[in-house]
Amino acid sequence: MSSVAVVSSENMDEKQQSVSTPVVQAAAAKVNLLGMSRPELEKFFEDLGEKKFRAGQVMKWIHQYFVTDFAEMSNISGKLREKLEKICEIKAPEVVHRNYSKDGTRKWVFRVGDGEGSLVETVLIPAEDKTGARKTLCISSQVGCALDCSFCSTGKQGFQRDLTPAEIIGQLWMANYSYMEDVPVAERERTVTNVVMMGMGEPLLNYDAVLSSMQLMLDDFAYGMSKRRVTLSTSGVVPKIDQLAQDIDVALAISLHAPNDELRNELVPINKKYPLQQLIAACQRYLAKDGNESARRHVTIEYVMLDGVNDQPEHAQQLLKLLKNLPSKINLIPFNPFPHAPYGRSSRNRIIAFQKTLSDAGFVCTIRQTRGDDIDAACGQLVGQVADRTRRAEQWKKKVAQQQEILRTQG
Ligand code: SF4
Repeated sequence: MSSVAVVSSENMDEKQQSVSTPVVQAAAAKVNLLGMSRPELEKFFEDLGEKKFRAGQVMKWIHQYFVTDFAEMSNISGKLREKLEKICEIKAPEVVHRNYSKDGTRKWVFRVGDGEGSLVETVLIPAEDKTGARKTLCISSQVGCALDCSFCSTGKQGFQRDLTPAEIIGQLWMANYSYMEDVPVAERERTVTNVVMMGMGEPLLNYDAVLSSMQLMLDDFAYGMSKRRVTLSTSGVVPKIDQLAQDIDVALAISLHAPNDELRNELVPINKKYPLQQLIAACQRYLAKDGNESARRHVTIEYVMLDGVNDQPEHAQQLLKLLKNLPSKINLIPFNPFPHAPYGRSSRNRIIAFQKTLSDAGFVCTIRQTRGDDIDAACGQLVGQVADRTRRAEQWKKKVAQQQEILRTQG
């Protein structure tokens, strides 16, 4: 769900560089503890003949003190540390590019395989709200994406593979570590306050790994995040929304982008499989699952504003009708055009008029703040810039060139 990360690379010159991960590379045969959930780690220690509580101790070292060297785990016996050193590792994905802005935005490109396109990106966006300073991390769940939403840069890169839990949680680990690397271990703390599973990929199509990663985010022995501060965004994989409702209590966002099936089939092709009526019903079931203490009090509706495509007054009216019986907050996202994008950004006036229609009808409707219009501003584009060489990208360019040629010969 890459549509939301409309982030600036403005002033990104401050600390922009290709880098190597600080985590020591280890032999391939070692077990990576980074992505293991508490039950998995407990079993791991039991299988070693150790007590289960070692799992909680090690998790705290990894996820709260950002330690990757077993020798630093001072409450673990020397003998066990030696054993762990031999058979395990704590290894985040390799950082190949990082981009720290003066406005606080941070972006990383991680290498998660050997192929040219085996890259994913992660964005941290700082903001102030009534609860204080927020640091929201937008996390990727797949290398590329198979769903090919027509406005999405990631979709144009095609799908390569699912990320593992270590590669997903490793993005959160690295974002926190980036603030703590110069801080003494005993004084380290978790800095990222919110997570949105909205980066590259459709998280519900990598269900098990995403679920296990979100469980780590909520676990008090790991990141201990509030369930209301962990959001999963989906383009609408209806059966998996129902499964999610059974498995975990986190906030849900829908990458909607169109108020009727005809338009949504074009913008978000998975709509042909799970049309709007089914999607809205699944959201209602999701919200109905728990009581007031749940993170599920409303659904966030993401709606990218495409000039002349989905931003007209009749679209706002259709959206009102569609969401009439769904407690929702609507987030309008000014589109960030990418090279060869077939759409443009709606005008500011058009977006404000659209917002007014929704607000006047009683919806909480916000406009996402854009942080600039540079080439790598939207999620998927920095990776695209670093290595946009997949087959589908080539096909897309050819298609655009063909269309341009047709227009040229016609006119
Ligand atoms: S193509 Fe994939 S990553 Fe892009 S918006 Fe659609 S579901 Fe999200």
